[in-house]
Amino acid sequence: MPARTGEQFIDGLRQQSREVWIGGQRVPDVVTHPAFRNVVRSVAALYDLQHDPARKDEMTYVSPTSGDRVGLSFLTPRTRDDLVRVRRMMKVWVDYSGGMMGRSPDYLNRALMAFAAAADYCGENDPRFAQNLRRYYERVRELDLCLTHTLVNPQANRAAGPAGQADPHLAASVVRETDRGIVIRGARMLATLPVADEIMVFPSTVLRGKDEDRPYAFAFAIPCATPGLRFLCRETFDPNGTTFDYPLSSRFDEMDAVVVFDDVLVPWDRVFLLGDVERCNTVFSATGAVAHMAHQVVTKNVAKSEFILGVASLMVDAIAVEQFQHVQGKIAEIVYYLETMKAFARASEADAAIDRWGMMTPAWPPLDAARNMFTWMYPRMVEILQLLGASGLMGRPTRSDLDSEIRPLIDTYYQAARMNAEDRIRLFRLAWDVALSAFGSRQVLYERFFFGDPVRMQMATFGSYDRQPYMDRVRDFLKG
Ligand SMILES: Cc1cc2nc3c(=O)[nH]c(=O)nc-3n(C[C@H](O)[C@H](O)[C@H](O)COP(=O)(O)OP(=O)(O)OC[C@H]3O[C@@H](n4cnc5c(N)ncnc54)[C@H](O)[C@@H]3O)c2cc1C
Repeated sequence: MPARTGEQFIDGLRQQSREVWIGGQRVPDVVTHPAFRNVVRSVAALYDLQHDPARKDEMTYVSPTSGDRVGLSFLTPRTRDDLVRVRRMMKVWVDYSGGMMGRSPDYLNRALMAFAAAADYCGENDPRFAQNLRRYYERVRELDLCLTHTLVNPQANRAAGPAGQADPHLAASVVRETDRGIVIRGARMLATLPVADEIMVFPSTVLRGKDEDRPYAFAFAIPCATPGLRFLCRETFDPNGTTFDYPLSSRFDEMDAVVVFDDVLVPWDRVFLLGDVERCNTVFSATGAVAHMAHQVVTKNVAKSEFILGVASLMVDAIAVEQFQHVQGKIAEIVYYLETMKAFARASEADAAIDRWGMMTPAWPPLDAARNMFTWMYPRMVEILQLLGASGLMGRPTRSDLDSEIRPLIDTYYQAARMNAEDRIRLFRLAWDVALSAFGSRQVLYERFFFGDPVRMQMATFGSYDRQPYMDRVRDFLKG
């Protein structure tokens, strides 16, 4: 089947009866429920972009198996040009939301592509797992499915591993194996975009390699509508208002959910790793998946930095504060963040190399720097919006105010040096949705944590970056 349209994505959701809970109630239909319908439409709009006749070659490629045109984010890169091509496609998707939808489907498509290309890694002890991964990738690519994922065990007692929790089934674990598959009980946090078609449940917590950790060591993927699978959502940040009042939150609240497995049967053909602690601890790096995911992330970071630079520059221009030195400095700071992200993206492609699986994999050090530095760059960019907007971020009437009899007052008192009142309010409401709303605060938390705990990511850089040549050089220098 060729790349899907938005309508086909929505039809797919309608056909699945998943168990999603919000506000103490089970959601009968995510397509129409107020907490989900707007983000469903936004994801659908991404799929529609694949069918823009002017973008066909930019967004899709010919499937090596079916001959259909499938989404380019599934492409297995063999050359540096392939990586650039994939990045350009991903940029179209992330630009759609100004980088505010971290879970456009390309993010996990890149991961699955890499897992499949390196499937032999998962199949070294059991060749069935390699075959399962390849088949699953092909299925997701050909049906153009949208994936969510969950990696982290519940945040109960971080002083102990999953087996040391008060309840051994708090963290999702294998409770038994049957001739049909494995049975999973327990929970994982946190899956963003529970309106996806399927969920990948992959390892991330580093397991210690003792026998007690084996039940927690697995990788699999199942439909979100699998019996016993429950998504417990936070409250929505989508106020279901107008896009004038809530330009981002009314469109891009992807939702986050804790995932509960109530004795969920995972068929054998969907199991990719089982009981293999060592492989679970290394699968992201050994397959190159982490680099391909980070390549999408740095593309998103570029889009998000460009968006914030645009918002900040329009604000500064509207209220005519551009002549102040510190204002110029703050705008320049955003420029530096943007250029840093662009440079990391280009460096990762320029230094890309064919890996042991035959994939052209972007260089890891610049992507590692990008993923870590954005955890503080993004909160700082949000702070800059607050510092530039000041009280203007609170003087922000709604569409209803503008349509009321107080409109003449608004036109007078909310005008800006270079913008009429309505345009200025529209802009400052956007800045508020980036920098202050519940949606905006969640974006900050997302950027700090979604790729992992920044503290442990830095420890990983410390442990893996080859600093020896520089130590040797300084030692030689000291010897005189
Ligand atoms: C908005 C949002 C969306 C997300 N979406 C997804 C998703 O779609 N899929 C997914 O799988 N995950 C998702 N995540 C989860 C993300 O992967 C985790 O937040 C991240 O890995 C950190 O884990 P944690 O939240 O459990 O923090 P914890 O591990 O509980 O850390 C809490 C605090 O304790 C410290 N700490 C804990 N253990 C250690 C240690 N061993 N050494 C040093 N310090 C430690 C941390 O530094 C931190 O300060 C999302 C997170 C957020 C905030």
